[in-house]
Amino acid sequence: MTDFALKSSQVITPDGIRQAVVWVNNGRIADVLSELPSDFSSVVHDLGDKVVMAGVIDPHVHINEPGRTDWEGFDTATRAALAGGLTTLVDMPLNSSPVTTTADAFDQKLAALPGKLHTHCGFWGGLVPGNTNEIEPLIEKGVLGFKAFLTHSGIDEFPNTSENDLRKAMPILARYNLPLLVHCELSTDETRATGEVRSYQNYLASRPKEWEDNAIALMIRLCEEFNCRTHIVHLSSANSIEPIARAKQNGLPLTVETAQHYLFFEAEGIPDGQTQFKCAPPIRERTNRNRLWEALKGGIIDFVATDHSPAPAELKLLESGNFMKAWGGIASLQFALPVLWTAARQRGCTLSDIARWLCEKPAVLAGLAGRKGKIAKGFDADLIVWDPAETFVVSESILEHKHKITPYLNEALYGVVEQTYLAGDLVFKQGNFSGLNMGKVLLNGPTKGQG
Ligand SMILES: [Zn+2]
Repeated sequence: MTDFALKSSQVITPDGIRQAVVWVNNGRIADVLSELPSDFSSVVHDLGDKVVMAGVIDPHVHINEPGRTDWEGFDTATRAALAGGLTTLVDMPLNSSPVTTTADAFDQKLAALPGKLHTHCGFWGGLVPGNTNEIEPLIEKGVLGFKAFLTHSGIDEFPNTSENDLRKAMPILARYNLPLLVHCELSTDETRATGEVRSYQNYLASRPKEWEDNAIALMIRLCEEFNCRTHIVHLSSANSIEPIARAKQNGLPLTVETAQHYLFFEAEGIPDGQTQFKCAPPIRERTNRNRLWEALKGGIIDFVATDHSPAPAELKLLESGNFMKAWGGIASLQFALPVLWTAARQRGCTLSDIARWLCEKPAVLAGLAGRKGKIAKGFDADLIVWDPAETFVVSESILEHKHKITPYLNEALYGVVEQTYLAGDLVFKQGNFSGLNMGKVLLNGPTKGQG
């Protein structure tokens, strides 16, 4: 049984940053105290002015196991997560094989976990044409919600849904109050990509904002019609901010995430042939990025998630630099916190903003808001200690991902994660893992024995 306290002048609580003592007992936060009582008998670790924050929650991670473990896998993904201060992930229903679109496939996913789960992990089910009758069995198994695509997903075994498929699924999800996560791009037949395949500008032009804007307009209409929790993943087009804001003002159950790479990079700075920057929707121009930041600060965008989607080098086509054919996906999980903080601090954002965007709001989407994502009495003691003033340079030697390909290579970032606690156990300290295989499977539902 763990019983100790973390003392710091910078504890990020729901009421702001303050000097506090976080008392941890038996895996939970027993209390958050302003001062140490004179009769306090637990061990106290005085961290000075290091930041104590809830562990980062990333609800958008492609772990790709079983079946494509050579792309990533639970072992390397969750190690990278611990090193980066992430304590809870939610795994996407692709690109594992099988994809998580049936209850049987979900069983295969759970069977792949023993010995490899170093953070807590929940799971999204997949919605594809023809699997309406698998929705309730997957809910019964404990998925936290469902993910659908409106354009080709990148792998043929996860086809995109039509509006008609969504019309069948959304009433069911609404009944269970589970979210539908949607990749919002509605492609047209028109081929816009012409000319030089190494050109980033050509790739950008091949996936225009209108694809996203049309898809988001459709999802807002369906969200209103079915009153089904609807979540737009990785928003890139700033042209959709207005309609999203309006839908939220009208009280629709609509939430939105964007990804670190849309906030950190800009199209103008991406060299031709550098396919480690390829993702869908694409990283857009500087003025678009500035508008995403304003929407995030204003609460129109709820939070930030990595969309970590790695692939082996041969699929990224780094040698040919062919943007049109390379795998679309950015590997970034380990740097979720420092990337966002590095960009946010330049824009006058606070540490409380970071905790809201990386801990508190993602917990709400995943249905974990009552127990994770905040430093508050009774919450799980998934905690991190980090130094926002210290910098480091991303190098291959510190990457815990399976593949050492990331657009953040050689970037100097602010924010060094020094300690990671999982349910009160110190599992990562000063670059070393001190506790592995301690993650819990997070299943939806009161009878599912949530970790
Ligand atoms: Zn994704």
